[in-house]
Amino acid sequence: MAEKTPSTVCFASSKVKELRRDATLPAKFERLLEMYPLKDMFGNRRVAIKMHVGGDLGYTTIHPLFVRILVQTIKNAGGKPFITDGSGSQQNAVARGYTEEVLGAPFVEAAGIANQYSYEREIKYQTLDAVDLCGNIVDADAMVVFSHGKGHGHCGFGGAIKNIAMGCVAKDSRGKIHRLQGEKFTWDADKCNHCHTCVDNCPSSGAIWFDEDDILKWNDHNCRYCRHCDLACPEHAIHLSTEGIEHFQTGMALTTQKVLETFAENTVLFVTMLLNITPYCDCWGFSTPALVPDIGIAASTDIVAVEQASLDLIRFEDFIPSALPAPLSLGEGSHLFERIHGKDPYLQVACAERIGLGSRNYTLEAVD
Ligand code: SF4
Ligand code: SF4
Repeated sequence: MAEKTPSTVCFASSKVKELRRDATLPAKFERLLEMYPLKDMFGNRRVAIKMHVGGDLGYTTIHPLFVRILVQTIKNAGGKPFITDGSGSQQNAVARGYTEEVLGAPFVEAAGIANQYSYEREIKYQTLDAVDLCGNIVDADAMVVFSHGKGHGHCGFGGAIKNIAMGCVAKDSRGKIHRLQGEKFTWDADKCNHCHTCVDNCPSSGAIWFDEDDILKWNDHNCRYCRHCDLACPEHAIHLSTEGIEHFQTGMALTTQKVLETFAENTVLFVTMLLNITPYCDCWGFSTPALVPDIGIAASTDIVAVEQASLDLIRFEDFIPSALPAPLSLGEGSHLFERIHGKDPYLQVACAERIGLGSRNYTLEAVD
């Protein structure tokens, strides 16, 4: 069988070789965007710029300057851009400067101001019968999936797939996708002797604890699935199943597919900012220091290729130990995010490739 042609990922490095404006990342970003046939992709079309605008005290989302450059470039190509994110994001957008005055394009709530404007699409995977896609995304003619690459407690990595699957569906659908993880942690109170071995062996702060009534509590977001608690329990009172993680990641990939199916061919561009690469998602409402030095910007018309390249670029960067928030520590794994969150971040990329969303085989084309 003939080998598939690798997808192209254009990459602008944040490294500066000369002290002049054209050698810096915003200027390279302009040149990176020019590598795409934007008039064909966006000309005379309503273009949704799908972002995750973050919340509360978070300050490491995409800098408004880059959004403004993207908006202007789309306008220059004849497109009609608007910025969008999921339910209740308007105030969060304003707090981080994502306003029409700053960006040159309006901000529109993806599912309307009451979060009720959506279109149902059938999925039929495990318990995920259908999802409600945000109406203003479906109504757009083209899209730029403008993602901030960072870690994620549930799926290891928050990039383009997570930006779409969690951010282009109504709130109830997000819950349904999360519930694909199923019953992962069980504790048999009758077997437990309250020795606290499980808690003492847990490397992740806030993942497992006994409450004031001596009931064992577990927080999926902080759990790394290392199974130390499960394996160390002398009474076999704990059972941790990791099967649900793959269902969750598959559900995200299938939802992403439904969103992308609403767009005509060659009308979606994926741009992932590999700056301020924090351990947790912007939805936490706070920021912690970057785990690795700034990397740059990756872009592709292939969502699988851009995700794979983003993860690979992070993987080979130098980890900054002092940036890890004090309660966290590194466990086992082949990727930094797996070592932090205990979840293989490549899993969602493999799922996306398996259902035909793109190729993990890519070549990097550098933008000077
Ligand atoms: S699986 Fe590991 S991280 Fe999760 S609760 Fe058990 S010991 Fe803690
Ligand atoms: S290690 Fe097992 S027996 Fe000991 S407290 Fe934890 S669940 Fe209970």
